[in-house]
Amino acid sequence: MIKYQKIMRKLISHPSSGIIMLRNLTGRHRKCCIKCGAIGCLHLNDTDKRGIRTYQCQACKKTFAETYGTIFYRSKIPISSWLLALIFWVTATGSISAADLSRKLGVSHPTAWKMLMKIREQLSKDLGQDMLEDLVEADEAWFGKKDNQDIVMGMVQRGKRKIRLIVIPNVKEETLYPHIREHVKVGSRFFTDSRITYAITGIRYHHQTTNHSKGEFAREGEVHSNTIEQIWGDIKGVIRTIHHGISKKYRKLYLAQYIFAYQFKHSTNLFFKSLCQLFTPTYCLI
Ligand SMILES: [Zn+2]
Repeated sequence: MIKYQKIMRKLISHPSSGIIMLRNLTGRHRKCCIKCGAIGCLHLNDTDKRGIRTYQCQACKKTFAETYGTIFYRSKIPISSWLLALIFWVTATGSISAADLSRKLGVSHPTAWKMLMKIREQLSKDLGQDMLEDLVEADEAWFGKKDNQDIVMGMVQRGKRKIRLIVIPNVKEETLYPHIREHVKVGSRFFTDSRITYAITGIRYHHQTTNHSKGEFAREGEVHSNTIEQIWGDIKGVIRTIHHGISKKYRKLYLAQYIFAYQFKHSTNLFFKSLCQLFTPTYCLI
């Protein structure tokens, strides 16, 4: 049993110790110098007023902070405020807006916005790479209007909460099919609507369709794409009611946040899954 409460207490009282506990949990604790790669040469140099340790490498003499490579590096915001932001996000219904977070944390709107964007960016770097298999649904949705519009292709493994959301330039066969080959295991059952550009998937997948234009949304029990349709409804609802629209520039990050929450909300502790990822240095994730 992982002692979550102990880690939380440590992160607030002695941030560096809490970070080390988290990294030991994920097996991503730094054992070598990030500047020269020397192993076993790190000596504690100092602890700053935020409780973050800095180390000096005895080989190259360079110093760096415990948070190097994370969103907390050189951040003036206390670790406790970051933790609160994460708690508010995880416990919110769907998502949290920057305006809401700024009120809750007592920080300016731009600061709250930057915090949320940094969290989204870091979460987007490790969204799971397993292939989708067994029962997979696919569909596309249009987000935004005119110049601000994106087409998003969605694929979801039914019953497993594994999802891919990919911004695509068009819905042509040569655009869709490579993504399907990349993310869906050959031989899986593959459910879509009757869009003709999915017909090619019949070569390598057991492809079955429903004809939405004729009012057919499910047949034979299993043949439907209602899971992905529900996901579109959820995402669009959050964008409309909480974020009041999203610019094209940042849409991928909002989608990544949705993927992260969707995949981990029910299978594990979303809060600690997020924490582990946020405290893992970027160079460990890429
Ligand atoms: Zn070094």
